[in-house]
Amino acid sequence: MDIDVLTNLGPKNKNLLNKLNIYTLNDLLTYYPYRYNFITIKNINEALDEVVYINAIVLSDIKVNYIRKNFNILSFIASNNNINFKVTIYNRAFLKNALYLNREILLIGKYKKINNTFIASDIKFNIFNNKIEAVYHLTEGLKLANLEKYMLEAIDKNIKIDDYIPNYLLEKYHFISKDIALKYIHFPHDIKEIKQAKLRLIYEELFIYTFKLNYLAMLNKRAKGLKKDFLVEDIDDFISSLPFKLTSDQLKTINDIINDLKKENRMNRLILGDVGSGKTIVAVVAILANYLSGYQATFMAPTEILARQHYEALTNYFHNYDLKVALLTGSMRKKEKENLYEKIKKKEIDVVIGTHALLNESLNFASLGLVITDEQHRFGVNQRNILQNKDGHGQADVLYLSATPIPRTYALTIYGDLDISQIKTKPNMRKEIITKVKTEDQITEVLKAMLEELKQNHQIFVVSPLIENEEETNLKSVNLLKEKLTLAFKNLVRIEVLHGKLKQKEKDALMEDFQKGNIKILIATTVIEVGIDIPMATMMVIFNAERFGLATLHQLRGRVGRSNLQSYCYLISNTKDNERLKVMEESTDGFYISEKDFEQRGQGDLFGVKQSGDMNFKIASFQRDYKILLQTSQDAKEYLSSSKYQENKLYQEIINQINFLD
Ligand code: ADP
Ligand code: MG
Repeated sequence: MDIDVLTNLGPKNKNLLNKLNIYTLNDLLTYYPYRYNFITIKNINEALDEVVYINAIVLSDIKVNYIRKNFNILSFIASNNNINFKVTIYNRAFLKNALYLNREILLIGKYKKINNTFIASDIKFNIFNNKIEAVYHLTEGLKLANLEKYMLEAIDKNIKIDDYIPNYLLEKYHFISKDIALKYIHFPHDIKEIKQAKLRLIYEELFIYTFKLNYLAMLNKRAKGLKKDFLVEDIDDFISSLPFKLTSDQLKTINDIINDLKKENRMNRLILGDVGSGKTIVAVVAILANYLSGYQATFMAPTEILARQHYEALTNYFHNYDLKVALLTGSMRKKEKENLYEKIKKKEIDVVIGTHALLNESLNFASLGLVITDEQHRFGVNQRNILQNKDGHGQADVLYLSATPIPRTYALTIYGDLDISQIKTKPNMRKEIITKVKTEDQITEVLKAMLEELKQNHQIFVVSPLIENEEETNLKSVNLLKEKLTLAFKNLVRIEVLHGKLKQKEKDALMEDFQKGNIKILIATTVIEVGIDIPMATMMVIFNAERFGLATLHQLRGRVGRSNLQSYCYLISNTKDNERLKVMEESTDGFYISEKDFEQRGQGDLFGVKQSGDMNFKIASFQRDYKILLQTSQDAKEYLSSSKYQENKLYQEIINQINFLD
């Protein structure tokens, strides 16, 4: 039902609701609050320097002092519980007429006992009882009170809202019905109601999600692909010609891939391997097998530097083969690109490595057999689909690489539509990164250590995290940090700041300059992207380390230690949370660290896991609700295999839409 049916809704507010993507009553009712205000009415003598709600009666005339333009103070005497006190409130001169003698009001603010004054932040005329107030993300011009009014009217209409939780599961978990859940979520009487409603709505959302995922997995398993024909001996020869011995997990993963390629079904495999675990060489072997079977391959990376790095590596690995590798990036000239398109179409090129530029419509292959996406989480579903269908029939084998070490059960759930190979063992030629947790007053130690590295012409990453909603302060604080470091190192080295406001191009340029060694210290406010090798970067210094989850810290630390030089990581924190950070001193195993993180915080830090744009949850969160997620995953699988879903109209609709979505 369209929101037009709401009698109270005028055109202006209708537009504002549309801005929030609310068009139907269903949209409105599933526009959930992000938090609640718990309003408990107190007596004035219970008010202890905290924000309180107090019922009061106006006892005096209202005085307004106009101090200057846009600044006035309104004050009067009020009474609560037989105590008289003064009330002041800023910039509410317009309330003067509403505040007449003996009017009952609700005051919100803080009471200062010393001068018997209540400093109000708000005065209301309608609520006089304990209440829980839902708070929503609004848009400019839309008042909370109005949204509440529409919500209430929508609920009163008692329209039927589809419930996606199958009946037997509703019963099994004693979930409340959807209509009641919607009432509770918007107008709860107590915390219990909020909890009941949330649990049920989150479960529903995650159930639908995992159902789709498992359905897709089923389709994927059935999808016809290309049966590749090559000799495993040729692959073995290549592997033995490598300058290093592959780890057991690398070999196991290669084996998985070989089996996939030889099968008639389309390969849909994700390689989950920690930073530096050597995923690239596995991809290289897959490319070789694909080439020996007579097919072309394409390899997409999120940045130009990374693409170039892969290009160089591949050219190197294949120098004994008649295998032609090409690089395609956005910065190439039109003419060059068109030339390349021609060659690819004529199969004069066997492997094309590139950035998003690979998605260009004009790029078509003669016989594409393998599609690889590096740092998979950096691309949206659509982008990945475009690339996968570049062969024209949607049959090319697909391989994703991802540096997100997360617990296995969890990975199986969120990547339920893919087969997974994990690379846990790392090549052991490298020195372990030495990690130390320091407090801010130990900063001189850190500066000394930094100086040592600079003296050896090594490079340093400094990370100073964002404080949400405080862009200006952030920029100021990193610029201050830059000044301090410049001063500390006597202007001898080039220090630059990489922050989120920069354009991707500018970021790439800075990274490139850093990679070339022109910049010695790179201060980053954003999480430095994964993937690039900067062998001379031997130190990572992270300020306010307590703000990051362990998985994120681990990823950041992985930017260094990518050569045989000894590398260091300093985690600077001033909170008592140092215990948690100690895990980082103990281990450099990403899977171990992420398990610990899930254990300790009861929620995961899912750095590098699918980006939010991939799934727009209205109420669920992968991070917070991962336990529910694991449950829904199991339940959805059961539901799918029971075939009950075939009689459920709602799920038939979902299935019909899946084909468009993915
Ligand atoms: P990531 O998994 O982070 O993408 P890379 O594939 O870039 O890691 O590998 C990191 C480095 O380790 C590369 O320089 C690569 O040549 C090297 N490497 C990969 N496998 C091995 C191995 N088995 N033994 C020694 N070095 C290896
Ligand atoms: Mg990599």
